[in-house]
Amino acid sequence: MLSVKLLSRTAFLGLYAGLLGLISGPATAQTAPFTVEVRFVGKAPNAAQQATIRAAAARVSKLIASPFGPVTLPGDAEACDKGLPTVRGRVDRFFVFVRVLPLDEDLYAEAWPCDLHDGSYLPVYGAVSLNSRVLGDLSATDLTDTMIHETLHALGVGTLWEADARVSLSGESDERSLVTKSAGQFYYTGARGVAAYRALGGRGDRVPLDADAGHWAGSAVCSEILSGDAGNYTGRVNPVSPLTLGALEDLGYRVNRAAASPYTLPLRGYGVKSAPVPAKSTSPARRPTSYANCAAVRAAGAAPLRRGDPGYRADMDGDGDGLACE
Ligand SMILES: [Zn+2]
Repeated sequence: MLSVKLLSRTAFLGLYAGLLGLISGPATAQTAPFTVEVRFVGKAPNAAQQATIRAAAARVSKLIASPFGPVTLPGDAEACDKGLPTVRGRVDRFFVFVRVLPLDEDLYAEAWPCDLHDGSYLPVYGAVSLNSRVLGDLSATDLTDTMIHETLHALGVGTLWEADARVSLSGESDERSLVTKSAGQFYYTGARGVAAYRALGGRGDRVPLDADAGHWAGSAVCSEILSGDAGNYTGRVNPVSPLTLGALEDLGYRVNRAAASPYTLPLRGYGVKSAPVPAKSTSPARRPTSYANCAAVRAAGAAPLRRGDPGYRADMDGDGDGLACE
């Protein structure tokens, strides 16, 4: 959904048979309570990108204070997605497979959790796909932001909120849902996330979600790391707020509250104040307001973008004249 870093809740749409095998990446020492190990599969990103990706995974590792429960995956385990290696045997730490694949042009990346532990329904490992069409255009900062966002999806934030996704290794489901829908709008209902939202000044007993039910509503949280509008806020690493830490807690992780980023809800945030957001005549309601690259801008009939227009980014404006994708 949106033109953002997206999750794939139904997942496993294996379309990329060509990318078999070839795992790389050294093991990381397990010193923190929880680590997110990165395992590159297929054609690896360049060395600088790999370092950025690992650093982002390490940033996410620091959010979690509970240890990973070692688990043995059964001999008949299946690959998480076509093109990913099958994982069998003992797994001692959480990891993500990271691939570079051609995705839709308006996506930066997508991610999802793979097998879930019995009992806790926490992921054993996850998969992150970075879009080969745009990876080269991402600054280190934007790649960091994207990778933090996707790693959180791989850990279950936004991806394990609905009951039908919560099926563990042995086929059990806890039927738990952290999402409700009313009047066409999705809301998050997990107690810790809602409490964090209220502590930040949000109103109500639930947190408005984006239309894909896997991100905070952009109108409510603006640039938060898991905002549905996160793709609009580039050139910065967006804050991992107490709201997202609360969502990790609702999934069953213990968290390091001190690792949250400074964050305040936007004053006009949905559910916070009712002041109307002025409509922009140049921005039809349905137009995506973030674009992966100029091809996406042109495909949407939005080129050229002027500085200040939704979706304008300096990196699309090579000559810096305030007109992107001329
Ligand atoms: Zn996302």
